[in-house]
Amino acid sequence: MFKLLISKLFTSEPSCQDVDGFLADYMEGVLDEETVADFDSHVAKCKMCMQYFEQYKQTVRLTSTAKVEIPEELVSQTLTFIQQNIRR
Ligand SMILES: [Zn+2]
Repeated sequence: MFKLLISKLFTSEPSCQDVDGFLADYMEGVLDEETVADFDSHVAKCKMCMQYFEQYKQTVRLTSTAKVEIPEELVSQTLTFIQQNIRR
């Protein structure tokens, strides 16, 4: 029983914290397929991560399409703000 629990723990999907850690790599497309699949399946089911992910994508899109260069500090401040407001 205990062994089962342990193995379950290691094969379980990523936690919200893991997803948060993966996000930057995910956006850069450097994650392996398996991790991307885990990421996607978690985000698809977790409303909090989905919101966070959407906000993150929007921020990245905004900064990459902006004609004016946005200071990196502002970007990280925005992301921190989003993070603090969605994840408590
Ligand atoms: Zn989550």
